[in-house]
Amino acid sequence: MRVLITGAAGFIGSHLCERFLKEGFQVIGMDNFITGSPDNIAHLFGHPKFKFIHYNVINYIYLEGPVDLVLHFACPASPIDYLSHPIHTMKVDSLGTLNTLGLAKLKRARYVFASTSEVYGDPTIHPQPETYWGYVNPVGPRSVYDESKRFSEAMCMAYHREHSIDVRIARIFNTYGPRMRINDGRVIPNFITQALKGEPLTVYGDGKQTRSFCYIDDLVEGIFRLSTEDGLSGEIINLGNPQEVSIIDVAKLILELTGSSSKIVFRSLPADDPKRRCPDIKKAKELLSWEPKVSLKDGLKITINWFKQMLRKGEREGEL
Ligand code: NAD
Ligand code: UDP
Repeated sequence: MRVLITGAAGFIGSHLCERFLKEGFQVIGMDNFITGSPDNIAHLFGHPKFKFIHYNVINYIYLEGPVDLVLHFACPASPIDYLSHPIHTMKVDSLGTLNTLGLAKLKRARYVFASTSEVYGDPTIHPQPETYWGYVNPVGPRSVYDESKRFSEAMCMAYHREHSIDVRIARIFNTYGPRMRINDGRVIPNFITQALKGEPLTVYGDGKQTRSFCYIDDLVEGIFRLSTEDGLSGEIINLGNPQEVSIIDVAKLILELTGSSSKIVFRSLPADDPKRRCPDIKKAKELLSWEPKVSLKDGLKITINWFKQMLRKGEREGEL
C-alpha cells in the first residue's frame, strides 16, 4: 500500500508519516515547509519506504506509479499562521484540495481530508455533532481558514458523488503534543513556552472560553482507523477529546505542571474567537471504536518535556 501525505513536515503530518511507516505502508511525504520543518521528518530520511517531495500542493501534482491512499493534511493550522498567510491558506484548501482529489481520482485512491472543528465556527449547539451546519462569519479574519475548509469538504463530497471517490472527512478538534513549534502561536505551545521561560502567560479575553484538547497519539490512532477501515466512504467524523476545559484552567494547569512562578496576564480576545468548543464523538465511537485515552494532564506532561528539550536545543544553538 502506497500513501501520499501532504503536510508531511508539519505537526500532525510528521506523526502520520511515522505511523503509516510503522504499519508497513510506503509513504510519500509532500511539504513546502511554509509552517513545517525538515527537523520533524529528518529521522525518516533514509527509511527504505519513505520518500519526500518538496512541493507546493497548490500546483498540479504528478506522481508516478500507484497510490492507494491520499491524506491531505497540508494547510497552516495555527490562527497566527493562517492570519499571516491568508491567501495561501485559501489556496491550499481549494486548489490543493482540488489537485489532491484529482490525483485520487486518477489513481482510484481512497482520500482522507483534514477538516476542522472550525467548520462549526462559533457554535450555537453544544457539544457539536457532525450533523450541525455551523455558525461561521464568512468575511471575518478567521474565514480564510474556516471557509476554505468548508469549501474543501464540499469539494470532497462532490468528488464522492460525481466520481465515486472513497472520501472520508476528519473534523479534527484542537490537538497538541511534541513537534508543535515554540512560536506556533497556539495556546498550548504559548503557555508552555511562557511558563518555562518565566514569562507571563497571555490569556486572551477573560479565559472563560473553552476548548477540548486531544493528545497527538490519540488523534493519529483515529486518523489511522478512519483511513484503513472499510465501509466508511463518504463519512464525516469528529475526532477530538470531549474533555472540555476553559483556557484559564489550562493556564493554571500548565503553571502547576511546570512549577513555574509566571503570572497570568489578560490580552484582548481575537475577532470571532469561538466561545465554546467540544466534540460529540458518538459517531467515532460507533464507526471506529475510537475514543481518546490520554488525559490532558498526562499529555501535557509529555509535551512540557518535549518543549524543555527544544528550548535547551535553542539555547545550545544560540551559544554556538
Ligand atoms: P502544521 O502547520 O504543523 O502543518 C501543516 C503542514 O502543511 C506544514 O508542514 C506546512 O509546511 C505544510 N503546507 C502548508 N501549505 C502547503 C502547501 N501549499 N504545499 C505543501 N505543504 C504545505 O499544522 P498541523 O497542526 O499539523 O495541521 C495539519 C492539518 O490538520 C491541517 O490541514 C489543519 O488544518 C488540520 N487541523 C489541525 C488541527 C490541530 O489542532 N493541530 C485541528 C484541526 C485541523
Ligand atoms: N489563546 C490564549 N492565549 C494565547 C493563545 C491562545 O488565551 O497565547 C486562546 C485563544 O484566544 C482561544 C484558545 O486559546 O480562545 C485556543 O487558541 P488556539 O490558537 O490554540 O486555537 P483555536 O482553537 O482558537 O483555533
